[in-house]
Amino acid sequence: MKERCPICGEESDLQFLPYNIPHFGDAIMFVAVCPSCGYRSTDVRILSENKAKQRRYELVVSSVQDLNVRVIRSTFGRIEIPELGVTVDPKEGDSFISTVEGVLKRVERVVKMLNRDAVGDKKKRAEQTLVKIEEIKAGKASMTLILEDPTGNSAIIPD
Ligand SMILES: [Zn+2]
Repeated sequence: MKERCPICGEESDLQFLPYNIPHFGDAIMFVAVCPSCGYRSTDVRILSENKAKQRRYELVVSSVQDLNVRVIRSTFGRIEIPELGVTVDPKEGDSFISTVEGVLKRVERVVKMLNRDAVGDKKKRAEQTLVKIEEIKAGKASMTLILEDPTGNSAIIPD
């Protein structure tokens, strides 16, 4: 299937990648990479019909094991981590099937980027957030991962 690149208008191939998630069911990932400008667009759908689609998930992450919990985020999924003061708003073309650790790595990348240009209080806050992320990854601090998606195509799936 072909899809038009929203950046440069070139045609790119849309790929369908099936996923089976243990104890949960099937999901499908849509991936389009533009051959011209390299823009990458992804989306995900949860296919399990027998499962009532949940719109809000909340997970307390307090141990190293919790980092392996699966996280599915569709393009409509909004992520919030109150302890880090972090919100990841839904973004078209940006979805993933990952783990809590993967989510933390994404957050860390963004905070590091902000930290580079920050000064004063903002820099201090960014540095505190990075320290807290390290503590969470080591199982020494806890956080709450909140995931909301009005379409029900996002999920947090503990083993
Ligand atoms: Zn393009």
